[in-house]
Amino acid sequence: MERMQANAFEQLLQALRNQYWLGSTLSLLGWDEQVNLPSGSAEHRAEQSAFLAGLHHREGTRPEIDGWLAELEADFEQLTEEQRTVVRWVRRDYDRARKLPEKFVAEKTEHASRAFHAWADARKRNDFAAYEPFLERNIALAQEEAALLGWEENPYDYHVDRHDPGMTAARIEELFGGLRAPLLELVGTILDSPVKVAPDFFRGFEVERQELFVRKLIGLLGFDFDRGRIDRSLHPFCSGDGADTRMTTRYDRDNPLDAIFSAIHETGHGLYEQGLPLEHRSNPLGEAVGMAVHESQSRLWENQIGQSRAFWKHFEPLFRQAFRSQLSGISSDELYLAINAVRLNPIRVDSDEVTYNLHIILRFELEKALFLGDLKVRDLPGEWNRLSKEIVGLEPKNDAEGVLQDVHWSGAAFGYFPSYCLGNMMAAQLWYAVAEELPDLENDFERGDFAPLLGWLREKIHRHGRRFDTDEIVQQATGKPLAPDALLRYLKERYLPLYR
Ligand code: ZN
Repeated sequence: MERMQANAFEQLLQALRNQYWLGSTLSLLGWDEQVNLPSGSAEHRAEQSAFLAGLHHREGTRPEIDGWLAELEADFEQLTEEQRTVVRWVRRDYDRARKLPEKFVAEKTEHASRAFHAWADARKRNDFAAYEPFLERNIALAQEEAALLGWEENPYDYHVDRHDPGMTAARIEELFGGLRAPLLELVGTILDSPVKVAPDFFRGFEVERQELFVRKLIGLLGFDFDRGRIDRSLHPFCSGDGADTRMTTRYDRDNPLDAIFSAIHETGHGLYEQGLPLEHRSNPLGEAVGMAVHESQSRLWENQIGQSRAFWKHFEPLFRQAFRSQLSGISSDELYLAINAVRLNPIRVDSDEVTYNLHIILRFELEKALFLGDLKVRDLPGEWNRLSKEIVGLEPKNDAEGVLQDVHWSGAAFGYFPSYCLGNMMAAQLWYAVAEELPDLENDFERGDFAPLLGWLREKIHRHGRRFDTDEIVQQATGKPLAPDALLRYLKERYLPLYR
């Protein structure tokens, strides 16, 4: 590489670092807002964050970046593989940030905020008509955004690619198409089973004890508390990165499994962040591939591992030790069935890992139709209910329980839902790949040893940052293209023995 090029690359990295400091500070403020912020300080925090977000945007759209990128692109073949990865992704993000006029971004942000409040209000009053014009405008703006970036042919593809680089609506259609019918059949078999899940029988689990148990558990999974924390918030989340990972969970005295599985889920995200190369944390070599890959990590730990017999062989005695009286009347089999309960639920976030995927297929079908103009927003509630019956197996009682249940569309997060189900497919595929390479895994889990599994994930997924796109990293890690087969196999192997 020539000196001029080396110079351009160094300056590019420095610009990314400046942007990173602002971005990571913003993220920390976001964490603080949900964990610590006194309610009277919300307005102050909004101004603080808006100011920093402005600086962050300015730093990422500096015209010099275009010049450095052009210089590097002119002699692309001379670059190392790592440098090419950086240049490719920075070009993509830079163009997306630059091609959207400031006025458009401001209007979109402002409208999304108004739409969010309109949605929250409409959901409370079960009044879709009041929210309808806001959603209509959100979709129009999202279509305009795609057109500004040259995706007018396929506006929905742009939004899919935004969350999961390399993914398209057609590819998702193919994957979901292979999942839908066999999954519906499996759900039918489970629901017809004479084995019925008992109503929730957990009562009076002290929150402080739950918190101690959760910390111990996620420490054993490999979460590094020297560079991370877990706190409490209304909605569990994971933010920050490997330098300072901030996770949350929530506690309910009558539902200890919620705290445990939310924490395991977020720990999956946290372990991914902690496994990305720290020295590259300000550039694409140290960043996650996308939403679906992130979700594959959280779901793998939460479902394939956290809901397995081997896992509970290790943790059940510790759980009973912490909650002797609360668990005294509950047998091991009852506990395991409660952990793996399957029942139809109109609400996506309250669904089990089997029926959850049906909720995502429903949303994908509707989003696609809305973006392609095959479905009008005014007809959305009716179509939601009709398809809900067909795909999820039940019709919601009202719009609050149906089309108004999710926050995503109000905040203009389109193309985001499919990532959840793609993440489930990847998690299962990774699970069978690692089980083949490390046949002793279940024995490790029974002993509370998760290091071999984590080592494999570090090697196959975490350390690569954004070197590969969504499909490529799955192929790389498992030797096969992403497909629905592994998820179907896993769900059958886990649930059929329980529900036969
Ligand atoms: Zn997640």
